[in-house]
Amino acid sequence: MLKWMIRLGTGLVLVLGVLFWWLILSGSDAAKAAPGEFDLSDWRSKAAAPTEVLPTEIRIIEVGRDIAPPFAAQAGRFGAPISMTYNAVEIIYPDKTIIIGGAVDRSTAETMTQSAAEWRFSDTAYDALAQAMLTADQVLMTHEHLDHVMAIARHPDPAALAPNLVLNAPQIDALPLFAIGDLDPALKALQPRLSGRVESIAPGVVIIPAAGHTPGSQNVFITLQNGEEILLIGDIVWNMGAIEALKTRPVLTQYLVFRPNYEDRDAVKRQVRALHDMMAVEPDLNVLPAHDRDWLIAAAEAEGISFLPAN
Ligand SMILES: [Zn+2]
Ligand SMILES: [Zn+2]
Repeated sequence: MLKWMIRLGTGLVLVLGVLFWWLILSGSDAAKAAPGEFDLSDWRSKAAAPTEVLPTEIRIIEVGRDIAPPFAAQAGRFGAPISMTYNAVEIIYPDKTIIIGGAVDRSTAETMTQSAAEWRFSDTAYDALAQAMLTADQVLMTHEHLDHVMAIARHPDPAALAPNLVLNAPQIDALPLFAIGDLDPALKALQPRLSGRVESIAPGVVIIPAAGHTPGSQNVFITLQNGEEILLIGDIVWNMGAIEALKTRPVLTQYLVFRPNYEDRDAVKRQVRALHDMMAVEPDLNVLPAHDRDWLIAAAEAEGISFLPAN
């Protein structure tokens, strides 16, 4: 009897060990190389415009924040939790604005809560964002996930918002998933206004399709009047430590968090490598992931980048 119990126990430990390895550690290394994945010189040439028509600054408008377990954000990372921000980015021109990101609304943020002590949501910031979308020249998103679309999919005045929306086809296709009830007819009728190729949408702003994390994921390259260059990378990584360590999120996160489970992990691994190598040769480029709160606060030390915290 005892012998059987020991065998059973050993078997169980082995199974748990394999599960731990598969879910937390395995299959998360960045590609060894990613030639041609991203082309910064192409983005620079497409962003080029006379200085006076370039944007003057970007503002990261935080609507909520929380923390996340390190092992869920970056395979093999343990220790202190990662500080997560939920936000949208406003690009400010002398005469107009562009908003990137629909952010997350209160009810969705509540369902995503990781730490009751650290969780915050600002109704004031969210309402101001929804309002700012109506006067913005264009409204885009980095990708079609619940924490990046809600002020679009659930906007209080979709008919007024719709003409400002500049989305790609997979982003439009995903909107019904995030509506409360039926998607508003004005949003149902949206047509893609992005080509799926690298393209400039305004002076100094270039959209770079980067399918992987989701089919509609894209980066946004921004050149400011003062010469600062900014690259919004959405959720290619959640925290910049992952780029430094050349890791992506673990398989566990793939199955637990992403619904539907359509992340193309190989594409993300190439993108992590490409960003890592780009940052090594372009140390002045401001690479900004959507959620890494500490990194974004530090990035806002640069002239022309500000971070408006949700209290
Ligand atoms: Zn995402
Ligand atoms: Zn996200």
